[in-house]
Amino acid sequence: MSADRHTRVLIIGSGPAGYSAGVYAARAMLNPVLLQGIEPGGQLTTTTEVENWPGDTEVQGPDLMVRMEAHARAMGTEIIQDIVTKLDLSARPFVAETDSGTRWTADAVILATGARAKWLGIETEQKFRGFGVSACATCDGFFYRGQEIVVVGGGNTAVEEALFLTNFASKVTLVHRRDELRAEKILQDRLFKNPKIIPLWFHEIDEVVGTEDPLGVEGVRVRDVRTGETQVIPAKGLFIAIGHAPASELVEGQLETHHGGYVKVEPGTTHTSIPGVFAAGDLTDHVYRQAVTSAGMGCMAALDAERWLAEQADTLRTAAE
Ligand SMILES: Cc1cc2nc3c(=O)[nH]c(=O)nc-3n(C[C@H](O)[C@H](O)[C@H](O)COP(=O)(O)OP(=O)(O)OC[C@H]3O[C@@H](n4cnc5c(N)ncnc54)[C@H](O)[C@@H]3O)c2cc1C
Repeated sequence: MSADRHTRVLIIGSGPAGYSAGVYAARAMLNPVLLQGIEPGGQLTTTTEVENWPGDTEVQGPDLMVRMEAHARAMGTEIIQDIVTKLDLSARPFVAETDSGTRWTADAVILATGARAKWLGIETEQKFRGFGVSACATCDGFFYRGQEIVVVGGGNTAVEEALFLTNFASKVTLVHRRDELRAEKILQDRLFKNPKIIPLWFHEIDEVVGTEDPLGVEGVRVRDVRTGETQVIPAKGLFIAIGHAPASELVEGQLETHHGGYVKVEPGTTHTSIPGVFAAGDLTDHVYRQAVTSAGMGCMAALDAERWLAEQADTLRTAAE
């Protein structure tokens, strides 16, 4: 059944950015509504230990997100499990249509739809995801102290992740299907000078091999793209570094984006190219991509929205006088 509802602030997304925006917007008495999307809790629900969320030496990703949801709800955010299927930002109030048939109008919108790591799409990659296969060196590198690991990719992400991982790993094999990298020259120079990194050209990942009980990676089978020959590289971890895709489909052609679809915000703020539309978290961030930075931006978005709404009210009042 379809219905029309209005809210002052519509928050789209339920990761750290969305829930933090909910906490701040609710405490600013804006009665925000938050639509959770297909993945309530966002990316952290797909991982296990998180060791870099301030205040928790170690916390399970899904538990942290349950707590964030409860916090946002307790402050007064209305949280609804629904997916925005269409967003019209061409006129105010903004209009969001959802999977359930609800048509939301909103005075301000906070976009917090996140991003996704690109995966190779092989079966064993999914099987060992969170148990030796990762797409985030900043998040998981620490677990591989003194271990041998494999990184796959050839762009900036791969080179940056490989370099970062040398802080922990004893050896990093960088697997790439060509014999040259797409990464910036300066990064390549750093990579080639690092004695811990061994590039393996003209290879792609065939499968991840490991133990069943406990589930864990023992090696990575790679295939020579020229000859088809395979070999297993011993490794405790495989880092997939073939890029990220921001979830910006809803605003494609409506908001300015950069770096391959990340929503552009005014530096130091969450203002997008349309007044009244704010963006936070991984959706805007091709650099840091962390829970704490996303939460920080969620806070900023709620404060930016609150100030912008107050300015709008002032303008209307002045015009009426
Ligand atoms: C396996 C893994 C491990 C990680 N480990 C760590 C770690 O240890 N420490 C760390 O700091 N970071 C870690 N990260 C990164 C961290 O999860 C992200 O930086 C963070 O979750 C980004 O938060 P976000 O709120 O911007 O978006 P996300 O968490 O990506 O959430 C996006 C939200 O938007 C919703 N959404 C999308 N489209 C729609 C739509 N059309 N309608 C409604 N809702 C929609 C989704 O349902 C989801 O709730 C990890 C990431 C992964 C994948």
